[in-house]
Amino acid sequence: MSDKINLYDLSFAELTAFVTDLGQPKFRAQQVWDWIYKRYALDFADMGNIPKAFRAQLAEQATLQIGTIVDELRSSDNQTKKVLFQLPDGQYVETVLMKYEKRRTLCISTQAGCAMGCVFCATGQMGFFRHLSVGEIVGQVLYFAHELAQTDEHVTNIVMMGMGEPLHNYERTLTAVDRLTDPDAFNLGARKITISTVGLVPAMRRYADEERQTPLAVSLHAATDEERDKLIPVNRRWPIAEVLDACRYVVEKTGRRITFEWALINGENDTIEQAQALGKLVQGMLCHVNLIPLNPTAGYGGAPSSHERVDKFQEVLASYGVSSTVRVRRGIDIQAGCGQLRDRAVKNAGSAKL
Ligand code: SAH
Ligand code: SF4
Repeated sequence: MSDKINLYDLSFAELTAFVTDLGQPKFRAQQVWDWIYKRYALDFADMGNIPKAFRAQLAEQATLQIGTIVDELRSSDNQTKKVLFQLPDGQYVETVLMKYEKRRTLCISTQAGCAMGCVFCATGQMGFFRHLSVGEIVGQVLYFAHELAQTDEHVTNIVMMGMGEPLHNYERTLTAVDRLTDPDAFNLGARKITISTVGLVPAMRRYADEERQTPLAVSLHAATDEERDKLIPVNRRWPIAEVLDACRYVVEKTGRRITFEWALINGENDTIEQAQALGKLVQGMLCHVNLIPLNPTAGYGGAPSSHERVDKFQEVLASYGVSSTVRVRRGIDIQAGCGQLRDRAVKNAGSAKL
């Protein structure tokens, strides 16, 4: 385990304290901060305006790496790239870059594993290991910001749809969001960051009370408790009616549209009855439904819905005036579904107890 301090974990005030404790003047903190958040330096050696001796001191005591890259995959069309980082304590984190026209969207992780146990999800199947720190969340973005900067590109959107449940790691995730949207730090527009949640009601209400401007996506996947209980264990704790009440509260407090995520599983939650039930539930609400044909995983027998069933599902929703889009799973050939790359690394390493 590295005992170096990860500078990504520090706020500006904390970085200032760290730098002055090393006997440096305060303005050096601003210089280091700008190298991190404005120029995406990953190496102290690149910090040209910092004296060499101080750079060496920084390298000795601190780090800017979130971990070691242990696997990297590109899709056949080269538009999607997935990186698996191994953290200093051996945990794994996945991050995916998706290029689509002018968009450079990052799908980032907020936890190593996930405690929610959704049956169709590779991350849910592996269980929970630990929360990621602020620095480990922010570091995923800065790594790709650095890479994109080499070709004069930058991160345009972030979705928190990698490993983990962002609202289960509320403090750190939202501190990372604040850092990423802070004009003095990474300066990405709040509306460019989507937080996806399985529907943790108290955390959603807190999010609404904080009147946050980052859009929220809610993983619904079923419109009756009977069906949702089968797919998402946490539904027993916060059933659909409570999740939807919290969604209405979020819309009311933030004025922002909610997105509902729905992985279409053949013959399971893609029936006309489910579509009708969903239509009735969300009719008239400021919302949009994202339909994603299931990405098959090792631990779940379900299959993605056929085109015909997807079309029919959408038609029924439209008859209730509910807008929806079908999201093509980009990078499916590189196992870009969350949790799948780690699975592969663990299997290759021949160890199951990471
Ligand atoms: N924990 C959060 C965010 C991470 S998962 C959440 O559940 O919302 C991001 C999205 O991918 C969620 O909508 C999740 O339900 C979906 N997902 C997970 N596994 C999937 C799979 N095998 N196929 C399709 N979508 C999946
Ligand atoms: Fe966790 Fe989201 Fe996967 Fe459910 S779908 S197990 S909440 S990561």
